[in-house]
Amino acid sequence: MVFVNRSVPLENIKCYGFDMDYTLADIIYPSPIHSSLCLSLHNHIHPWLSLPPFHPNLSSLLSGLVFDTMYGNLLKVDSNGNILLCSHGFTFLKRDKIQDYYPNNFIQRGNTDRFYILNTLFNLSETYLDGCLVDLFTRCSRYENCQKGFKHGDLFMSFRSMFQDVRDAMDYVHDTGSLKESTLRNLDKYVVRDVNLPVLLTRIKEVAKVFLATNSDYNYTEVSCQCCMMKRVLGNKLPFILINISIYFFLKYPKKPWRTFFDLVVVDTRKPLFFAEGTVLRQVDTNTGKLRIGTYTGELQHGTVYSGGSSDIVCELLDVKGKDILYVGDHIFGDILKSKKRQGWKTFLVVPELAKELQVWTEKNHLFEELKHLDIFLAELYKHLDSSCRECPDITAIQTRMKVVTYRMDLSYGQMGSLLRSGSRQTLFASQLMRYADLYSSTCINLLHYPFSYLFRAPPVLVSPTSDIPVIITRTCISSCIKSLAEMTMKKHFFLMLSRCPMSPRGIITPLTSLHLSSLFWIKSRR
Ligand SMILES: [Mg+2]
Repeated sequence: MVFVNRSVPLENIKCYGFDMDYTLADIIYPSPIHSSLCLSLHNHIHPWLSLPPFHPNLSSLLSGLVFDTMYGNLLKVDSNGNILLCSHGFTFLKRDKIQDYYPNNFIQRGNTDRFYILNTLFNLSETYLDGCLVDLFTRCSRYENCQKGFKHGDLFMSFRSMFQDVRDAMDYVHDTGSLKESTLRNLDKYVVRDVNLPVLLTRIKEVAKVFLATNSDYNYTEVSCQCCMMKRVLGNKLPFILINISIYFFLKYPKKPWRTFFDLVVVDTRKPLFFAEGTVLRQVDTNTGKLRIGTYTGELQHGTVYSGGSSDIVCELLDVKGKDILYVGDHIFGDILKSKKRQGWKTFLVVPELAKELQVWTEKNHLFEELKHLDIFLAELYKHLDSSCRECPDITAIQTRMKVVTYRMDLSYGQMGSLLRSGSRQTLFASQLMRYADLYSSTCINLLHYPFSYLFRAPPVLVSPTSDIPVIITRTCISSCIKSLAEMTMKKHFFLMLSRCPMSPRGIITPLTSLHLSSLFWIKSRR
């Protein structure tokens, strides 16, 4: 299933762009396996680091968490920076303890010097390491716990310095290529192959141009793409019909090199810089993997691999405009936010965690239903009250029950709760997803289920999800703010209408409700 934030008519899309890691190549770096790999690779730099045993509290780490480098806390926040969850090492903090650190229960997430947002699945192992280290030293009796770090004799080790050590180590294993080398040696362990990928790319190429833009270098891209598209076609557990399609394509294109699936391949793109001024565009010698001297200024040569460049150069080479491109990536900042904000590309965010979110949503639907009914009970209590009323309905029981249901909902996803929400509140990740991703799904392979003439149509909403105004409006709120209008016009009819308004769990107004409200305001203006 592909979800829609803003309408995208596929028949207008003349070019499809793809990121590689976690988008085309579904690479799995599970914590703590990947963390162990990272540590083993850079242990000679930071010999004092040793990975503590895996702890289940950090098994449910999410994208979009925030690490506070001042206090060493891992935070889950909403779009405005209000704290939804706080963990210090492996320990989840209670409300009073959180307020000791953050009196307003709020962080200025724009302060990127202090608050580091863990944007992507690549960051999960880093998050895990940060949590492990904070926990390790918190429990170590030789170290004195201070507010901003640990003390041992003359030595003070701040949370910021520990965070920076882990950051440096991660950069080291990425920059030196040692992580990628280790990954390539164990492809069976780290790479998930999808037999439908060549099918999707072949079908897209029949109707539009296709390009690959990855931050990985040529050698890594070559092996990863070759692995994902050419081997083990029959290895996965798939529905019979999909296996048949895959066999057909495998037999039809038995030795098709992976590069022929694309009109243009660009490696070493250095996103997000790629979506701004970019870097020098060079050709890659595919025999040696080395870069050719000088900036490439000629026309597009099919089968050639390029290095660097920018999104403007890609548009020029492929002769397409930004609005004609649908770019598919997994990184909310590097792939989606920048391509949308700087270039106006249509965007498709791959959110692998969405599969679990949907599974929980289905399995725990009774909890969502209960929360919806509690909302309605709450609205009923206030339905006949207005500003002249001095009585105060007792809503304690409903509030308590809402907290219990919300807690049970959050636990259904894991210790850290849902990637997208905490009860009725959207997470930072969810707000960015709604703002910058036109489409999103758990995998790009889901595009296989839609014709290339399909119109992905966004449902109209009362307030734009891209604004800072909260989208979620409770039934109570609606009934309060327009009750006077209803009294002026058609009171009985209106409340009958409101009671029948379709409303999603937690009160997101559906198109029909918006229509009703518009009609009502139209009636008022006519009077
Ligand atoms: Mg990626």
